[in-house]
Amino acid sequence: MTMKRVLITGGAGFLGSHLCDHFLGKGCEVIAVDNLLTGSLSNIEHLFKDRRFHFIKQDVTDYLHVPGNLDLVMHFASPASPIDYALWPIPTLKVGALGTHKALGLAKAKGAMFALASTSEVYGDPLVNPQPETYWGNVNPIGPRGVYDEAKRFAEAMTMAYHRSHGMPVRIVRIFNTYGPRMRRNDGRAVPNFITQALKGNPITVYGDGSQTRSLTYVTDLVDGIDRLIRSKAAGPVNIGNPREMTLLEIAKTVKGLAQSRSRIVFKKLPVDDPKVRRPDITLARKLLKWEPRVPLEEGLQRTIAYFRKTL
Ligand code: UDP
Repeated sequence: MTMKRVLITGGAGFLGSHLCDHFLGKGCEVIAVDNLLTGSLSNIEHLFKDRRFHFIKQDVTDYLHVPGNLDLVMHFASPASPIDYALWPIPTLKVGALGTHKALGLAKAKGAMFALASTSEVYGDPLVNPQPETYWGNVNPIGPRGVYDEAKRFAEAMTMAYHRSHGMPVRIVRIFNTYGPRMRRNDGRAVPNFITQALKGNPITVYGDGSQTRSLTYVTDLVDGIDRLIRSKAAGPVNIGNPREMTLLEIAKTVKGLAQSRSRIVFKKLPVDDPKVRRPDITLARKLLKWEPRVPLEEGLQRTIAYFRKTL
């Protein structure tokens, strides 16, 4: 399948805008759809001069009409940080559920492939570490994170139903914590918080005792994994994430060191249902996609710190 015309929901967001860059770079025509709730035009400002780039400001939970054919519909729209989904619980549920249905319907009408941005949050607070794709997860449906987790679980179920009922080609990527330029400084996630705090000389806020773990993937590695997934034959979910697992305290200290900051590290209350561990099992990505991450944490963080320095 050659991808000539690609539609990306959430195209003005952190990941969506990097995907716009990527597919334009491969010679595709790209249509970005975004309601700009958490996305920003500044992420795609540089693309408007390209005649192969189009932007539609729209909420993907509403009916979407796009003239012409499409080869690939990528559903990447969603508030994506715990602070965002606490602020916008209903839009988060709607975009993951109703938005997925609309985007699937569009892909079906156009005979396009459908690619879903799923998440390591489908594993919830995992009782298995690292998490393989076969793990069904441990999600609290009614907790504050449930709006995101359950919407994404529904989105996966809906995607597989379209695949099975309509024979639609689909790809599901389970994205683990990804960082890099164009993250919103105030999205509340650990990396933008730590970098902003370190650069401003403010206290670096580690939640809980900092012993919870995450595995951080640099954005270019993620985009490479998604590109390979689309070119592969793997319909079912594939984890894309860096298996290097660190405690949050280690991450905070690393950011502080790289930013050459004199900030103090302080401890704050741990958010409700905060997963204690998270680490992808990437056996499947290695086997099916020949993918593994290449950018070391220190290098990715340096690039991200440089971006935040410019925008501060
Ligand atoms: N975290 C933290 N300090 C912050 C922001 C987040 O210690 O200022 C912790 C948070 O409690 C979680 C981890 O960092 O354990 C990753 O949080 P993030 O919001 O980046 O994403 P999550 O993986 O929880 O979706």
